[in-house]
Amino acid sequence: MDLFQHIRLFFSSQYANERFMMGEETDIGKEMYRLMTELYPICRSITGNGVRETLRIMKSHIPLKIHEVPTGTQVFDWTVPKEWNIRDAFVRNSEGEKIIDFTKSNLHVLNYSIPVEKKVSLTELKKHLFTLPEHPEWIPYRTSYYSENWGFCMSHAQYLQLREDEYEVVIDSSLEPGSLRYGEYRIQGETDREILISAHICHPSLCNDNLSGAVLAVFLAKALSRTRLKYSYRFLFIPGTIGSITWLSLNAQNVSKIKHGLVAACDGDSGRFTYKKSRQGDAEIDRAVINVLRNSGGAYDVTDFIPFGYDERQYCSPGFNLPVGCLMRTPHGCYPEYHTSADDLELVRPECLEESLSIYSDVLFVLENNARYLNQNPKCEPQLGKRGLYQAIGGQQGGKSREIAMLWVLNLSDGNNTLLDISDRSGSRFALIKEAADLLARNGLLRECGE
Ligand code: ZN
Repeated sequence: MDLFQHIRLFFSSQYANERFMMGEETDIGKEMYRLMTELYPICRSITGNGVRETLRIMKSHIPLKIHEVPTGTQVFDWTVPKEWNIRDAFVRNSEGEKIIDFTKSNLHVLNYSIPVEKKVSLTELKKHLFTLPEHPEWIPYRTSYYSENWGFCMSHAQYLQLREDEYEVVIDSSLEPGSLRYGEYRIQGETDREILISAHICHPSLCNDNLSGAVLAVFLAKALSRTRLKYSYRFLFIPGTIGSITWLSLNAQNVSKIKHGLVAACDGDSGRFTYKKSRQGDAEIDRAVINVLRNSGGAYDVTDFIPFGYDERQYCSPGFNLPVGCLMRTPHGCYPEYHTSADDLELVRPECLEESLSIYSDVLFVLENNARYLNQNPKCEPQLGKRGLYQAIGGQQGGKSREIAMLWVLNLSDGNNTLLDISDRSGSRFALIKEAADLLARNGLLRECGE
């Protein structure tokens, strides 16, 4: 079964019995992992050719529109920075040996380093070196976007072996007027009301933060583009912070169309799911994600909004206050490999990417199908048996839970409760509640309320 068949099945109302993957072997996780493997070697930053190349590869999966915003453009309180590009970088000892080599790992260079070419003493070199003493084999990932600096990152084990010498340092980079690039893909649904999925694409060779979120968003977009949808969807692939600020600045007049949103990040490790609520805290997206996680059968965490983290900070800034949460597995900063060379292709697993995609799909299923209904026979229970509804249920596996779901739907469909309310209150999975509502509606016992 391919991805599109899954999603079609998934978005059909008949689908309540099994979860997304239905226990079948699929290749979706492997396909996601393959895209991650292709993107992994690229040296990305908030601007520059790495982002360009990344968007180009993503464009072979989904028809991204690529925007270019010139350096110097004022975006709220920020300014689009100069464009950074790098060709090579190394530190060479007096014996001509490259002891740090950018071509071996792009994490070796302080991201956004200004160009440099000079000879330095060990003391001078050390002022520009970054290491992780607590994980001596790993290379840290460090950036200096908004203050001009140069530097190298290396393993602490190697650092300890450095000896007095005259070192040649070369960073063949450029920091010049250019542009900030981001990718956008909008899928038109039956209404103009939008669901925003945002992923950052500014980290170099790092997998969980941040390629996992970007890859997940690509596959979600790919699947949704072939699915009949109530909402329109907007996917953003942007450099962190400055990208969301830039997008919000250029699109401020349209953001009221965004009814729900998720920032996708850290979605490929094997840790439990963590949902960071929107600033609103009780938005439909918050309730939908928590409902799905509660019914997923796995352990999960829910945290309140805090004004640091990923781009939800900008979407949830008080001037916008959009209902946008962040759905992760292990959060940024909470796993030791975070922002180090150990956040690599080993840390992220295909089956974890696939499971994350399925949880995202479950959340969208809730949003797509959440509605209020009115019981057409509200005075005492309708006689289900004479309509064949007991029979219709009884023959199926899990008939009892379906029967109970129908009774909940009938009882709470007074025009005030949504199907999500009913799922929460009954403890029945949303898909089961939705299926019960469809069955009752087909039998004239329920009518969907207008928006
Ligand atoms: Zn990060």
